Amino acid sequence: MALKCVKCGLKLPLYPPKSKCEKCGGTLEYKVSLPTDRKIKFSGKLRFWRYRALLPPVQNVTSLGEGGTPLHNAARLAKSIGLKRLYLKDETRNPTNSFRDRAAALLISNALDLKYDTLISATNGNLGASLAAYSAKAGLICHVIVPKLVDVGKLAQMLVYDAVIEEFGETVDDSIRRGESLAEETGWYQATAELNPLVIEAQKTISYEVCEQFGVPDWFIVSMGSGGTIHSIWKGFKELKQFGMTGSLSKIVGVQPKGCAPIVKSIKGRSKLARTSKPSTRALAVLVAEPLQGEFAIEAIMESNGLALTVSDSEIFEAELQIAKLEGMFAEPASSATIAALKKLVEEGTIAKNDSVVCLITGSGLKATDVLQVLTKKQKTAVLGLEISTKEKILHILSRKDTYGYDIWKKLGRTMTRGAIYQHLNDLSEKGLIVGYTKNGRKFFKITERGKKALHAIDDLKLLL
Ligand SMILES: [Zn+2]
Repeated sequence: MALKCVKCGLKLPLYPPKSKCEKCGGTLEYKVSLPTDRKIKFSGKLRFWRYRALLPPVQNVTSLGEGGTPLHNAARLAKSIGLKRLYLKDETRNPTNSFRDRAAALLISNALDLKYDTLISATNGNLGASLAAYSAKAGLICHVIVPKLVDVGKLAQMLVYDAVIEEFGETVDDSIRRGESLAEETGWYQATAELNPLVIEAQKTISYEVCEQFGVPDWFIVSMGSGGTIHSIWKGFKELKQFGMTGSLSKIVGVQPKGCAPIVKSIKGRSKLARTSKPSTRALAVLVAEPLQGEFAIEAIMESNGLALTVSDSEIFEAELQIAKLEGMFAEPASSATIAALKKLVEEGTIAKNDSVVCLITGSGLKATDVLQVLTKKQKTAVLGLEISTKEKILHILSRKDTYGYDIWKKLGRTMTRGAIYQHLNDLSEKGLIVGYTKNGRKFFKITERGKKALHAIDDLKLLL
């Protein structure tokens, strides 16, 4: 095992995991070498630490039971998309409901080995939640720097696990710069994903697991923010091949939301990676304007003969509801983007019916408040719809014949209180859609011209729906 600069090849000590090359500023990466007996043995239950032999060495193993997540056979979703073999790597089943628990387990173990008592991480959510939980378990102090736009569910996790939270910057790009200078100032353990090469090592175990659970799929689809995750997935598969544990490799597909797609733009335009100005997406986990590991992501996509594409926020949300309704899985928007992309690729014929596909579901939809808001709105509309339909029914009854409240209540099937009926009659009178008059000592109601017009308008509208 060695820590090397990918640019100039400089070899550094394994620990502490530096954020960049001290000679050229290049990115650092751990290079795994085959054990002396040339045999890799995974041992123990299907869990994160099963892969210890291919991870940088640690002594103080910290665990909350991360990894070993199910590879979900998504048969119903596959059928609706027009595929035969679709699997979802369900990372929502980790202790804090995201794939970042793998990174937290390795980083916190390493921080304990190196006798740090405080760590710092700039994060747009999931990693902060994971580190906060694992720090609590290990008795470390966890500082997190989050941007203004962060999923409220993730923030709630950081709070409950007792992290020290600082808000800094619009997007995570700003928070990372702050995290970098703070670590230099204080000497705290650097636990920002983009600044600690151990994170790549931790996340590559996802590929190891998929390989043990299924084998190597034809396609592996990942959503991209900083580009680190897709790189880890590719690194994991390449290592397995290098060590003779598999013969084939997946084609890697990288997905970004339309409003924030610097990596996809660079690939499609064959241009240099550039910062996205005014980035915007509701998939906050991948709202990264300047992907620090973008070059790695591009390399993974090109080397694997894969491809990159964008999907819109509305396509993402449609996919999110589809995954939930067909598979009983609540995925966060960034993860749902993989299914939105898959639908496009199957439609255009890039991915064939018989190809095997794995989509990476990085985190739970419960963490992303956005979706909950959408659902609440939907529920309100449904209630509103009900009220319209009662008033509409009353108008229909009155369009046939004038009558009184009690009769209307009976005609509506006595499904609501009579008080509620009188409330509706009052509302309709106030709006001038009906008028009341007294006949034989009883209050009758009559539909007005305006009421008739309203009824016609509703009927016309229904033709459109
Ligand atoms: Zn270097």
